[in-house]
Amino acid sequence: MIDFELEPQVLERTKFFHTVAEHMMRPISRQYDEQEHEEPREFFETIWKGGARERQASGESGADRKGGARNLTTVIMAEELCWGDAGLFLSIPGPGLGGAAVAAAGTAEQKERFLKRFKDGEPKWGAMAITEPGCGSDSAAITTTARREGDYWVLNGTKIFCTAGQRALEKSDGFVVVWATVDKSAGRAGIKPFVVERGTPGVSVIRVESKLGIRVSDTAAIMLDNCRVPLDHILGSPKVEPSGGFKDVMATFDATRPIVAAMAIGVGRAALDFVRDFLRDQRLEIRYAIAPTRMTALERDFIEMETELEAARLLTWRAAWMLDRGIRNSLEASMAKAKAGSSVTRVTQKAVEIMGPLGYSRKYLLEKWMRDAKINDIFEGTQQINLLIVARRILGYSSKELT
Ligand SMILES: Cc1cc2nc3c(=O)[nH]c(=O)nc-3n(C[C@H](O)[C@H](O)[C@H](O)COP(=O)(O)OP(=O)(O)OC[C@H]3O[C@@H](n4cnc5c(N)ncnc54)[C@H](O)[C@@H]3O)c2cc1C
Repeated sequence: MIDFELEPQVLERTKFFHTVAEHMMRPISRQYDEQEHEEPREFFETIWKGGARERQASGESGADRKGGARNLTTVIMAEELCWGDAGLFLSIPGPGLGGAAVAAAGTAEQKERFLKRFKDGEPKWGAMAITEPGCGSDSAAITTTARREGDYWVLNGTKIFCTAGQRALEKSDGFVVVWATVDKSAGRAGIKPFVVERGTPGVSVIRVESKLGIRVSDTAAIMLDNCRVPLDHILGSPKVEPSGGFKDVMATFDATRPIVAAMAIGVGRAALDFVRDFLRDQRLEIRYAIAPTRMTALERDFIEMETELEAARLLTWRAAWMLDRGIRNSLEASMAKAKAGSSVTRVTQKAVEIMGPLGYSRKYLLEKWMRDAKINDIFEGTQQINLLIVARRILGYSSKELT
């Protein structure tokens, strides 16, 4: 049976997240877009303290990915908060992508050990570093190495475009999960995740990027120069097995792609709501019930924008719902991510187009949402890569057979 009705407690939380988005994020959205790399300290502290009681109550550490409606609630939260501001959402202290990697690849003991720091104290961040100067979409081409030396793994390489990398390594007691190869000759199977904590000798932030959108979110380049991490910082088994290693990268993406899809929908909905409110002020209501042949071009555009976001949302909720039930969702996660990334790009551009100079002006946030939108079509696998994954899964091809 298919049931699209949300549980009362999920609905209640949706309202709460919307209030946070409206009253805490929107008012500072423009300020931190313009002052890139400035820390919204007050926002961090308020939101961290606000979440502390809940984290204590639920024992939440990002470790438990199954059960209840946890993933569904997460995507709904991501949509609401990104309706507020996507850059601020990505900057919210927490385990982030690093936590997702620990949850996907770590043992129960590692989940407890690495994620318990997120329960209290000062704001903290987790991050994940896969991308390198010569590898992004083709994550199997990772060149960062991990060599065993006595009681340590020694990591060498450069990682780029690491979301929250600076906050995790320089500004809080955080960590970055670094993906490195323990055996280049083993290909994908040799790629393993390592937890690199703040203060580990040999790790440094070498650059923080200036960006088109989500400018308040820090995006760091990281150098690993003979960086020594204890043996038990490799997540999961150190054994190189044909079926192992890379499947943990994929499992991480299965959990994070629906979240990015939801982020995209939140940004798109912000733009759509803005246009709707503007049209209402002009006493223009969208006439849904009339025949398509009698609709104005504006009405048709608006309905198309709504439809795009609604389709993306249903795909996203399905992918999250499957994750909540422990059902493999790689196909659905990629479908949701590809659809939401392309939809938000189209919807925000159309919104700017409909509004003309008001859309282009910095007086309103529409132009910002158009800039914030595009990243959802790039990180966590570009649109092209997600479509490739969808094609492989539907047609039954391996990554070697369909590239
Ligand atoms: C703001 C930001 C934050 C990021 N955060 C993180 C992070 O936290 N951690 C992390 O590890 N990475 C992060 N990334 C990196 C991001 O995931 C990669 O940039 C992305 O996966 C694309 O990889 P690439 O940069 O190597 O581009 P490329 O792979 O070089 O892609 C360039 C273009 O070629 C296309 N393309 C590539 N291969 C194919 C193919 N086989 N078929 C068809 N088209 C193809 C792509 O779709 C794209 O359009 C971030 C990036 C940005 C911009």
